[in-house]
Amino acid sequence: MSTNNELVQLRDKVDEINLKIVELLNERGTVVQEIGKQKIKHGIKRFDPVREREVLDMIANVNDGPFETSTLQHIFKTIFQASLELQEDDHRKALLVSRKKKPENTIVRVKNDLIGDGSQSFIMGPCAVESYEQVRAVGQAMKQQGLTMMRGGAFKPRTSPYDFQGLGYEGLQILRDVADEFDLSVISEILNPNDVERALEYVDVIQIGARNMQNFDLLRTVGQVNKPVLLKRGLSATIEEFINAAEYIISQGNDQIILCERGIRTYERATRNTLDISAVPILKKETHLPVVVDVTHSTGRKDLLLPAAKAALAIGADAVMAEVHPDPAVALSDSAQQMNIPQFEEFMHELKDFRAKLQS
Ligand code: PEP
Ligand code: MN
Repeated sequence: MSTNNELVQLRDKVDEINLKIVELLNERGTVVQEIGKQKIKHGIKRFDPVREREVLDMIANVNDGPFETSTLQHIFKTIFQASLELQEDDHRKALLVSRKKKPENTIVRVKNDLIGDGSQSFIMGPCAVESYEQVRAVGQAMKQQGLTMMRGGAFKPRTSPYDFQGLGYEGLQILRDVADEFDLSVISEILNPNDVERALEYVDVIQIGARNMQNFDLLRTVGQVNKPVLLKRGLSATIEEFINAAEYIISQGNDQIILCERGIRTYERATRNTLDISAVPILKKETHLPVVVDVTHSTGRKDLLLPAAKAALAIGADAVMAEVHPDPAVALSDSAQQMNIPQFEEFMHELKDFRAKLQS
């Protein structure tokens, strides 16, 4: 009984100290915030390692135990970190692309289509623009399927400099002409910040390819234009890096961003890349941006396009992207993974059926 009493008393004492610690920490926090304001006013960097070292040395000098100096220093390092976070601007804590900052979905308008409004759509088209006839054949097949968003590369980011690099502006013109004939919109990749402005005359969505996900100049440039951007996940990018790449764009004012999961590089060789299907709900949870799944570059296998596309729709993707070519065998890029037109028609038939079942 008496030991119990003693224990209760000791615990009361500890609680009293805990309260004091909380009070002191918050008092410290208030002072730290004031210091933060002074630092901003005088243009001094927030992180000050010399100052931290002084405090750690002071702890070593005055410490009489029972705690080890290293233990106290460890605790103080945590306090330093928390204080630094207190001094950080709001937008460092909540990114502009985050749901925390904006709970409702961002709906991206692509000509007459809305992406991110709950409907699930399709972005189809050749890997690269090779000729007017080639793009027109795909555009016509798309039109027959009631599709409205056409992709196609005019500037191709190829692994080898000796491979077909794309037709450039001539390719963009072909995309525009075919799109106008069939009332489609154009989604095309731009590689160079200097091409962005001129490309606006041809495209409805600027695509930033996987290899350029961390091309910060390019991201900032497309962040300054009034045109939607489809941002593809980097070859080996983490979700956090992907989200931060989108933040580069939105930080410049453009919030019309579509995220595209296109598979990541792993040790697996059975597919061209590994489709990170769980990235879709994570991105939708963490950000307010629409998410598209590119089943062509993620799988690199025609036999996996349909099951991967079904998985994408089932898990909540806002759109599915895939490549179509009138004669894939002679395509100048990604010849093994593009669908021919009958395969595309079959694919669309099955996928539309699946989407209707999901929605009912
Ligand atoms: C593409 O979509 O044309 C392309 C090159 O894909 P990625 O950037 O994802 O490799
Ligand atoms: Mn391709």
